[in-house]
Amino acid sequence: MIEGIYEPHHTRGDLHLACDVVVIGSGAGGATVAATLAEAGLDTIVLEEGPLYETKEYSANIPEMLTKLMRGGGSTVTMGRSPVPYLEGRCVGGTTVVNGGMCWRTPERILDEWVDDRGLHHLSAKRLDPHFEEVERTIDARHQDPGSEGRVNDLFYKGATNLGWKLSQNKRNQRHCVGSNDCVTGCPSGAKRSTLYSWLPRFFARGGRLYTHTKVKKILTERGRAVGVTGELQDPYRKRRFRVRARAVVVACGAVQTPLLLQRNRLCRGSGHVGQNFTIHPNVKLAAKFDTEVNSLRGAHQAWQCTEFVNEGILLAPGAIPLAFMSAIFPLFGQALAEKMRDYRFIATGGVLVDDSASGYIRALPFGIPHIHYDVTDVDQEKFVRAAALLAELYFAAGAKEVYTAFHHFPVLKSPDDIKRLYAHPPRVEDTEYFTAHLMGTCRMSSDPTQGVVDPDGRAWDVPGLYIADASVLPGTIGVNPQVTIMAIARLIALQLGERLLANRAA
Ligand SMILES: Cc1cc2nc3c(=O)[nH]c(=O)nc-3n(C[C@H](O)[C@H](O)[C@H](O)COP(=O)(O)OP(=O)(O)OC[C@H]3O[C@@H](n4cnc5c(N)ncnc54)[C@H](O)[C@@H]3O)c2cc1C
Ligand code: SF4
Repeated sequence: MIEGIYEPHHTRGDLHLACDVVVIGSGAGGATVAATLAEAGLDTIVLEEGPLYETKEYSANIPEMLTKLMRGGGSTVTMGRSPVPYLEGRCVGGTTVVNGGMCWRTPERILDEWVDDRGLHHLSAKRLDPHFEEVERTIDARHQDPGSEGRVNDLFYKGATNLGWKLSQNKRNQRHCVGSNDCVTGCPSGAKRSTLYSWLPRFFARGGRLYTHTKVKKILTERGRAVGVTGELQDPYRKRRFRVRARAVVVACGAVQTPLLLQRNRLCRGSGHVGQNFTIHPNVKLAAKFDTEVNSLRGAHQAWQCTEFVNEGILLAPGAIPLAFMSAIFPLFGQALAEKMRDYRFIATGGVLVDDSASGYIRALPFGIPHIHYDVTDVDQEKFVRAAALLAELYFAAGAKEVYTAFHHFPVLKSPDDIKRLYAHPPRVEDTEYFTAHLMGTCRMSSDPTQGVVDPDGRAWDVPGLYIADASVLPGTIGVNPQVTIMAIARLIALQLGERLLANRAA
């Protein structure tokens, strides 16, 4: 048992709780807010819909871990011209438990745009710097120990270096990662510092309480002000309810669940932006076959990124993926797929990430059904084709014999000459398989109440006492992995909220 965490068997009957601040969600945003408020001296409760799983329970058993740690067993998908699978963590620590651990600050060009074009002056690089530092210290953002990267990363490095392309070494939130490549099913060595092992211990050290299995359904309001929440305690043995009364409510359910919760409560409807501006950093995977052993079961998920093309909105990266997912890369089935999978030790996987120029939307339909819509645009598809061609070029430069793509009509590139054919007959959106891990923007922050859902302090424009602090408040797409950005902005929001509540208490 972790002191401060209450699972259903630790309590009896319905729960009636009171505190200064109730935080919904324990992922990147929620855990950061909770620790920051508790350290400011505020009585804070975190409600987390998912269960608690600790290091000793994480394993490489993909079907079991997907079911335990992820919403819908990992079978979530956006609808549109081509469906895009995505994953949402649903456990204590949220998506940080299943993420790849890459740590990037928001690029300055993005922060400048937020300041200059959107009037979000407190999001300047200078103002955010101390918060980035605090986040990086708390989650142990650092380079891999030498020798832990694995050949998937070494080959990527070799290809980029041979071509003279710029490389950046990833920092990851880990302590002595051994390179077991199991990040997506929870780190079994305890190296990865998800919020369960970074922000939440700080929260518990200050007396913070976290209740698992507590799915918030209703945000309580009195005279238009948020005053608490209610929901169902998902106790497998009995029907139980909970109610928490608080001076402020912070929603941090992630970029999909936060707008759904607000829409179901018919809150924050003034701007029309709840559930809009949904950006997802879509990516496509590639796999390259070498004639020497790669063994992608060893190594860190991603130790390098190729930043040569970032000004075009294109990021190339290696990405070691578990064996079960690798089988989906090959355009084969039956015996032919079984034969190909024998080659797995010779396969390196990677991906391309594209800054999306379009956005989708999220809508709560009747009977609790969500509609998650995203269309990859033709403009972005041009970038995908170029990005995939560049990554294929990189792999051939590293010595690959064949490259497998995510394009149905060009499943295999057998030589650099085939890349020219790809450019000559660019695949359509409908013939491309995408994936995403970065969901953002659905309750965006704005300096103008007609343009977003929360103000620059994270306060809902329409509902006093209601705050949002997760990926949904990001004002736009950021082009890099988002957890550090989410945590830095969440910390900023929590510090302002803490000051305000303490000042009111003193008055
Ligand atoms: C496979 C994968 C790899 C990734 N790799 C990286 C990476 O390497 N680097 C990086 O920076 N980012 C990465 N990300 C993205 C990053 O982890 C997320 O952007 C980030 O965790 C989102 O933070 P959040 O607070 O918005 O939501 P989450 O971290 O998802 O937390 C939301 C929490 O709210 C809970 N919740 C939802 N609804 C309710 C409710 N009604 N009541 C109570 N609780 C509720 C959920 O159970 C969840 O625990 C990755 C994501 C995935 C899926
Ligand atoms: S690669 Fe490193 S951080 Fe990821 S699961 Fe393995 S030991 Fe943990």
